[in-house]
Amino acid sequence: MNVYLDNAATTKPCKEAIEAINFSLTENYGNPSSLHSFGLKAQLAVDEARKIIASALSCDAQNIYFTSGATESNNMALRGIAGAYGKRKPKIITTTVEHASVKETVADLENKGFEIVRISPDENGEINPADIVNAADENTCLISMMLVNNENGYILPVAKTFKAVKRRFPDIITHCDCVQGFMKLPVKCAELNADIISLSAHKIHGAKGVGALYIRKGVRLTPIITGGKQEKGIRSGTESVPLITAFGAAVKKLEPTIPARYEKASELKAYLLDKLKKLDGGEITYNSGENCSPYIINVSFEGIRSEIMLHFLEEKGIYVSSGSACSKGAKSGVLEELGVSAKNADSAIRVSITAETTEEELDLFAQAVSEAQKKIMKSK
Ligand code: PLP
Repeated sequence: MNVYLDNAATTKPCKEAIEAINFSLTENYGNPSSLHSFGLKAQLAVDEARKIIASALSCDAQNIYFTSGATESNNMALRGIAGAYGKRKPKIITTTVEHASVKETVADLENKGFEIVRISPDENGEINPADIVNAADENTCLISMMLVNNENGYILPVAKTFKAVKRRFPDIITHCDCVQGFMKLPVKCAELNADIISLSAHKIHGAKGVGALYIRKGVRLTPIITGGKQEKGIRSGTESVPLITAFGAAVKKLEPTIPARYEKASELKAYLLDKLKKLDGGEITYNSGENCSPYIINVSFEGIRSEIMLHFLEEKGIYVSSGSACSKGAKSGVLEELGVSAKNADSAIRVSITAETTEEELDLFAQAVSEAQKKIMKSK
């Protein structure tokens, strides 16, 4: 039996998403830009997915643009705003706990002459909205801040921060990487005070290779991919109808159950932490605080390095992550930024669940951890 507990890295596509891909590849394979009715049928399918995603975010469908994933969405947001507004206002504010697709992009913009201000969490591992507001000024074109951290599930105070920023500087563009929050917490454009939002389909039981960007009406963005002017010229390239319709199908399925699934995930998280607390093979530290998504549980097992634990679990058919899946085991430093000691960061394991994860699966995980503690610690 496989126990898949790495859902923050990617999720299993749902039946509805697979059916949408199948239908699109076998029946509805026209090019949405074609002028004949076969192309129009594909265009209508893309527009239907756009409507579903817009409805989930409570925005207008014309403000949703499809991309190849959240890495591209984040690049479009940062480079696009830097391109459109950066000449006059060359300052960008972000946090030190962002995903690599934001971190690396702002580093590149820094090399190109932009001033980047990176705000660190306080001693409790929390971002203080005032630190961001105080860093903002007339020269700031953009603030980019994620909603849920992908390593420990920390929920950042995005709505509060963006509201305070907008009150003082209404022209600053606010961008939120909502990848780990979408379809898990309620994500609404107006409530977040976000001008731009990045989404990814494969984190929500859609397929890999498709994402979206919400861009508020009136916000200008210089395209980073130019060509045939698809997506109103904001993102050229033939739309991936199979992946886009699968994205829509996954959102349609998940949207009505966000609160119920959140509650279930919270119960499962409490169940797992209680189980782990009862193990007696060494100290276990919970690296996610109060203000965290229940879908991501980050724990450190004293004296056992992450990679050792990860491979021990893998041999038993249990799949977790040692940190951010995107960093391929390389240390990102984000956990330390979030207040985790270097020692605990070295032995951190990220367990990321869905509402469909079972107590039995968590039992198997806890049992395997207990075995690892006995075996690995004994051999030391
Ligand atoms: N942002 C966050 C917070 C993520 O967790 C990820 C993926 O791990 C991404 C962006 C990148 O998403 P994608 O895989 O769609 O490029």
